Amino acid sequence: MTVTRFAPSPTGRLHVGNIRTALHSWMLAQRDGGRFVLRIDDTDAERSEERYIDAIRADLAWLGLDADVEVRQSQRFALYQARFDALRAAGRIYPAYETAQELDLKRKILLGRGLPPVYDRAALQLSEAERAQLEADGVRPHWRFKLDHDAPIVWDDLIRGPQQFDPRTMSDPVIRRADGSWLYMLPSAIDDADLGITHVVRGEDHVSNTALQLQMFAAMGVTPPAFAHEALLTGSEGKLSKRLGSLGVDHFREEGIEPQAVIALLARIGTSDPVEPLVDPAPLIAALDFTRFGRAPARFDEAELAQVNARIVHQLPHAAVAGRLPEGMGAAEWEAVRPNLTRVADAGDWWQVIEGPVEAPGADADTRAYLAAAAEAAEAIDWAGDPWHALTDRLKQATGRKGKALFLPLRQALTGRDQGPDMAALLPLIGPTRAVERLRRAAG
Ligand code: GLU
Repeated sequence: MTVTRFAPSPTGRLHVGNIRTALHSWMLAQRDGGRFVLRIDDTDAERSEERYIDAIRADLAWLGLDADVEVRQSQRFALYQARFDALRAAGRIYPAYETAQELDLKRKILLGRGLPPVYDRAALQLSEAERAQLEADGVRPHWRFKLDHDAPIVWDDLIRGPQQFDPRTMSDPVIRRADGSWLYMLPSAIDDADLGITHVVRGEDHVSNTALQLQMFAAMGVTPPAFAHEALLTGSEGKLSKRLGSLGVDHFREEGIEPQAVIALLARIGTSDPVEPLVDPAPLIAALDFTRFGRAPARFDEAELAQVNARIVHQLPHAAVAGRLPEGMGAAEWEAVRPNLTRVADAGDWWQVIEGPVEAPGADADTRAYLAAAAEAAEAIDWAGDPWHALTDRLKQATGRKGKALFLPLRQALTGRDQGPDMAALLPLIGPTRAVERLRRAAG
């Protein structure tokens, strides 16, 4: 069974970049009838905050990305300790005593010689006595995972294709601090193994972590998950944009963006499939295919999101939006105004137009006479059928007006605006009483 996970660190709000990887992980689990795990990476007690955990849950709920299981790393320390002990006993974890300053100096020396700044494993050269002396001096070690240098690290990435890393060019990663706290790398691999994660979808900034973690899976004797590393997101200007880091669900909601629009856009940008404004994500899920994801950065454009949003709004049924419409606004009113909206919240403006009062622009004598005739005609027509066509047909015959001269004064008098929803849909909702009254008032 396919099991995917989304593993945010609760040190801030989700932004559009991590929403995208969450979405693809969720879609993959949905596509395969599998499970989607939300893993809260809260090993860093100082930087993790409860309010961010709540916000992550709320954001995912708004998007409809429901997790089947939720785990928190801070509740899994006993598991990490057990794996740590086993790996240490097997010689794959070792203590290191350098200070941050010493490590920095070593790095600078190597870089100064034009060499890659790889950790020299000096800690492995310490004798028992030297180690005992350091401990006696009160120096607490941090812990490194010992990479196996014997063979290249290879995997077939679902997006990037065959990948290869030479472990000799990589430092043994620090996996635990001197105070016993855990760094990201090992707990993540332990959890992926323990939770039976079959596919890890994440940003390509994690590619070299994957190389290291593959060795951890091997050291633990478990089959690693498959990996899909997505190209990063760029702003519409084509550059890695700072702004993207602050764009999240709160912003989308403020802008009147529907969750379906976020999903439709993020599902497809950066892939060779077109963005489709679908209210129901099922076809997007069924068509998810990592081989169609590009290696080039995916371009996220807020203007495109707004366009997709408008096309989503035009399809939303009344039941989906009723709670957000003005009191009394029913399905007929919603369907009449929906094609003119870019955001659901703007439906209130048209409700106002239907309910009135409306303020028509001033008109010249000729137009006023025309509107007086319109008021009379509006009293005479049959409102049960198609009153707009009945009214305009009658006025066309009576006045010889056509096109804009026929329609625009009516629209202005009836709605107070030059543009708007189809009058054939709007007029029955305004109804005979209000329509006649508005036409009379505009006729002066
Ligand atoms: N907490 C990590 C992050 O947010 C998770 C990375 C991963 O998906 O393994 O970068």
